[in-house]
Amino acid sequence: MVKIEDILNQLNSEISEADRELIRRAYDFANTAHTGQTRLSGEPYIVHPLETARLLAVMNLDASTVAAALLHDVVDDTPVTSKEIEREFGPEITFMVEGVTKLGKFKYRGVERQVENLRKMFLAMAKDIRVVLIKLADRLHNLRTLGSVPERKQKRIALESMEIYAPLADRLGIFKLRGDLEDLSFPYIYPKEYQWLMKNVKERYKEREAYLKKIQPRVEEILKEEGIEPIEINSRAKHYYSLWKKLLKYDMDLEKIYDLVALRIIVPTIDKCYGALGAIHKHWKPLPGKIKDYIALPKPNGYQSLHTTVFCLDGRLTEIQIRTPEIHERAEYGIAAHWVYADTKRTGHSQGASWSALTRELGWVRQLQEWQRKTPGTQEFLDSLKIDFFKNRIFVFTPQGDVINLPEGATPVDFAYQIHSDIGGQCAGARANGKIISLDQSLSNGDMVEILVQKNKKPSESWLSFVKTSYAYDRIRSVLKKKRSAEAGPKIAKIGEVEFEFSVKDRVGLIKDISSIFSQARFNIVRLNTDVHNKNSPHIVAICETKNKHSIEKIIPKLKKVKGVDELTYRIHSV
Ligand code: MN
Repeated sequence: MVKIEDILNQLNSEISEADRELIRRAYDFANTAHTGQTRLSGEPYIVHPLETARLLAVMNLDASTVAAALLHDVVDDTPVTSKEIEREFGPEITFMVEGVTKLGKFKYRGVERQVENLRKMFLAMAKDIRVVLIKLADRLHNLRTLGSVPERKQKRIALESMEIYAPLADRLGIFKLRGDLEDLSFPYIYPKEYQWLMKNVKERYKEREAYLKKIQPRVEEILKEEGIEPIEINSRAKHYYSLWKKLLKYDMDLEKIYDLVALRIIVPTIDKCYGALGAIHKHWKPLPGKIKDYIALPKPNGYQSLHTTVFCLDGRLTEIQIRTPEIHERAEYGIAAHWVYADTKRTGHSQGASWSALTRELGWVRQLQEWQRKTPGTQEFLDSLKIDFFKNRIFVFTPQGDVINLPEGATPVDFAYQIHSDIGGQCAGARANGKIISLDQSLSNGDMVEILVQKNKKPSESWLSFVKTSYAYDRIRSVLKKKRSAEAGPKIAKIGEVEFEFSVKDRVGLIKDISSIFSQARFNIVRLNTDVHNKNSPHIVAICETKNKHSIEKIIPKLKKVKGVDELTYRIHSV
């Protein structure tokens, strides 16, 4: 059975005695809390948090994350509250434990077309990459013990791991973890295929490994002749699930798979990687079309390495992968490895900031790039840039399990309009997670929202004051307008539009600053025309909705104060 000492031994040697003590305390706390509990496998419960923490220690994560991993099931599965954890361990660890607990409520319902949204929602709920990493490690251990879970649950958990967890590990660059998650889920999702594969490849794997062992000394010689001292040469067996996917593309013909087991060479520098590639090609002819330089041109998921397939000893086709130790660690531990490298100069406990920077840099940015590829130049993409991506978005479920993406602070009315304008218009009440909530209440990430409709109901003017999406706003307004012109009475308070015209000197952030003043004052911008590059008269025109003149007079001085605004005039258009 795994022990706390195993974890302490795994820790980076740079981790201080105080941090080690923190991990020991977290262990004692969790051990006491889980006393008497067992896993379905019959093991003492503490084995699970220990295994989760060990994985993170192996990945070189910081002491707080390892401690949070030890505590990750305490709030959900024992009487201990997060208040008590906070008293014992402070806000940072508590934040992570709560994050993991919250993600525990995340359920994959198998709606294929929603998968990408679900992944985003998962990340948005986690709020911190470390929470995601704990959750991934937690899931890996749960998959290892999935055999003792009731059958009907097995498949759901395996599918969720395959569709949500593994792609997230991939996106975070933790390719080894992705492979492990997929391989552990594989037999539960495709049992027959898995069995076929096992029957047909087990022997081949062994045979290939023996062959690579045989050629290893020869490879060393070849490299030495060129003055290259490899740090390590070993073989890596292809993950089963990725082999399966490859076989599907190659008529299930194992003879066509050259990288069943590949030889992996690790050399000190990138120059040496290319040197080693040349040395190998000098002795063994490469198979045309199979030389891949993923160092100069990384795969879209960030994977790097040099790959070549050569006619090796006895003319056997063999894949050889060449990389540096840094590249190798990054492929194994992804974002976590990057953190270690970026943070080696760090002292003390200032990890929060570097983590959030990394989150942006590696996680969201990569995601954004992907979005840009799929939807280049669309309004959706531009909006996502402005809102710092996930930070200001929430993801909520319909009762059917569809995911609706909304701005932060969105209400049931926004949600209803997002589903269908008729549902929005007839919205009479709402339930979130089964409980009745008021129509102006803000929804939270992961809520399951149900709209109660009433036939012939019309949108209410008061909704305009709290809806967050312009779609809902516009729909409500247009219905109200129609209603008003039908009633044709001058008594109704008028909502007008006001046109602001700015003469400006353009600068970075000017438009953003102006828009944020409008939004703080709750002015809804209906149209924004910018012509800041106009040589003669650079200007911006913003058309906003307003209810009264007073609020305009209040916002004018604020807008005039914005750096870069030279002049400002406005006109009111009554509706
Ligand atoms: Mn757990």
